Amino acid sequence: MPKKPAIVMCPQCGKEVVWCDDSRYRPFCSERCKLIDLGQWATESYRIPLSEGGMEEDEPHHQA
Ligand SMILES: [Zn+2]
Repeated sequence: MPKKPAIVMCPQCGKEVVWCDDSRYRPFCSERCKLIDLGQWATESYRIPLSEGGMEEDEPHHQA
């Protein structure tokens, strides 16, 4: 019985990726998808929620 390679889905684009030593960027299909995912992660980590002292946006009153 031949060993069947595991197939995973690229978390970024959903493409099937063969899980083997050849797939350097697994579980991503490519370096591109990996970088995109890492970029999103980094972006979210930098998004610190402002709980206090938030900016109150005054709606501009248009006076004709
Ligand atoms: Zn992908």
